[in-house]
Amino acid sequence: MTTELYLDGNATSAVLPAALHAAIDAMAHCYGNPSSTHAAGLKAKALMLGVRERARRLLGTGDGRLMFNSGATEGIQTAILSALCAIRDRRAQGLPTGELLVYGATEHKAVPESLAHWNRLLGLNLAVQALPVDGNGRHDLAVLRELAPRAALVCTMAANNETGVISDLDGIGAVLEGSAAFWLVDCVQALGKLPLQLAGTRIDYAPFSGHKLYAPKGIGMLYVRAGTPFTPLMMGGGQEAGLRSGTENMAGIAALGAVLQALEEGGTFRTHAELVDFRDRVADSLRQALPGIVFNAPFDGALPTTLNFSVPGLSSKELLDLFDAAGIRVSAGSACSAAKAAPSYVLDAMGLPEWRSSSAVRLSFGPATDAATIAAACERIVHCGAALRAAPKPDGLVQLTAGGAHTWLVCDAASATCAVIDPQAALENRIGTLVQGYRVLARLSTRDGSGWPEGEEALALGGRQLRRLAAAGGATCYLLDDTHAFTGHASAADLATLLSPETLLCTASAQQDACCTSLRVALAQRTPSLDAEVNLDGAALAALLEAHPDALLVDVREAHEHAASDTGAGYAAISVPLSRLAGQLPRWLGPDGARRPLVFFCRSGNRSASAADCLRRHGYRQAYHLAGGMALRG
Ligand code: PLP
Repeated sequence: MTTELYLDGNATSAVLPAALHAAIDAMAHCYGNPSSTHAAGLKAKALMLGVRERARRLLGTGDGRLMFNSGATEGIQTAILSALCAIRDRRAQGLPTGELLVYGATEHKAVPESLAHWNRLLGLNLAVQALPVDGNGRHDLAVLRELAPRAALVCTMAANNETGVISDLDGIGAVLEGSAAFWLVDCVQALGKLPLQLAGTRIDYAPFSGHKLYAPKGIGMLYVRAGTPFTPLMMGGGQEAGLRSGTENMAGIAALGAVLQALEEGGTFRTHAELVDFRDRVADSLRQALPGIVFNAPFDGALPTTLNFSVPGLSSKELLDLFDAAGIRVSAGSACSAAKAAPSYVLDAMGLPEWRSSSAVRLSFGPATDAATIAAACERIVHCGAALRAAPKPDGLVQLTAGGAHTWLVCDAASATCAVIDPQAALENRIGTLVQGYRVLARLSTRDGSGWPEGEEALALGGRQLRRLAAAGGATCYLLDDTHAFTGHASAADLATLLSPETLLCTASAQQDACCTSLRVALAQRTPSLDAEVNLDGAALAALLEAHPDALLVDVREAHEHAASDTGAGYAAISVPLSRLAGQLPRWLGPDGARRPLVFFCRSGNRSASAADCLRRHGYRQAYHLAGGMALRG
């Protein structure tokens, strides 16, 4: 199995070996409660104080407070609660306070969500106002200048988690000079990547998160400037000088301490120049692999560890799947659901076109990455590009899905002709890429029958014929030879008199059918297979292959994912992407089908479950799938 190259450092990081050892050591030998007065407690307390002192030095906290907590989301809550309580008190005393809660439009959701939450809970009714950013992702300081006199709290981030764009904190600080507004700076993505000397700035609150810099999840820090108001979020035993109650996460503190020690002593983390060189090398291989790629934030002014890009004609899900197949873990630059990629609010705020915002990919590596990892990543990225180019031209049926609906392509590679049935706007880029070099004979609608070339009886696609049939209720259906019918939203009952029971129905509704059905199956109204035996784990797969040496392993990922990956485990597999399954079905279901066991697999187990379910609904009992997908096998 391909070794994993983890390039999603902005989401979270692996734990540094020294941090892992420090955590284990703390649990094994320093398990005392730092509040206890006996020797075990004192030992734990000394460890904790040592880490705090180191953090203070590194962050230049001066006389400010630095408390440990569970992470940045907690730090953000606490900072916002503190500022809002202080604003409420000022108001109660009749002192002037602003009426705006200003936050950068590209902040992590923890910031605007917490602002809205605490503003509502405290009944303050302050206006929550986004501060726009420019096309490069930088805050609009002219707008901030206008808002500053009315601002009660300003929240900006040091560096953006999606794009790596570095904020002009000096510029923001200068604009806020003289304003009474509190200033929160989310420093999560800056730790270990940007120099921070907090007490020398006007910043009031700065949250940090350990798991973004090689410490485990569940440990964070909050800096509060000397003299800035503070209200605890957690009350109880009075730990952290009463600022944050709850017994301290000593394993996390010890691990964070090891990371901070590595930062302070040098040698573990790459220099800025080295990281810039890494980024340039990764960017070059991306350009080579993915022609037309656009980077969504200028490299100048962004963390060198973050690359955010979009590729025309490829969705973020397709790119993620491709990279994942090659063992490279990256993430969508936007929130992504299975059916539809939601555009990124960060890229939207930068004014980027919708296609870039909804198809963005973020590749981010940590500052401790080594040259060998970058070289391996570059090699695999180039391999991904080759896999994309090597994917065979579509031949036969292709099913594309967006927003719960299917679009179908009927392609003939030999004559380079195709027809598109029920094209959807959201899929235009994808369709364009797939049928590049093909003559599109028709773009047909099952709803209104539009698109049929005038005077034609049938459309010839190589040796196959596509015909038009009127279905009940004004709908149109298209019949490909006698094997497949494209039936849009027509019900099986409407089609009963038109089609033979074995004709495969390629519907437009993804809710109705993940792949395709037939009149016989649809009219029998069988619920999807609930047979537990359809799901194989690793052991069941091995047993099945031993009992049935003729079993066929079928990779239902896209052809480029298949080409980019090493399926591992020494088994040979054929590639039948789920999107092409409808075209393959007649061969498996027909009278010549050998009825040998079929084991479908994919990355996560979703596509393979659909394929096995489809076969079983058609009565093919020997269909199985690898539950949990290859992700759980690695
Ligand atoms: N702020 C930024 C910029 C982040 O990237 C994240 C993590 O995604 C957070 C806040 C939340 O951090 P945590 O996971 O420690 O709660």
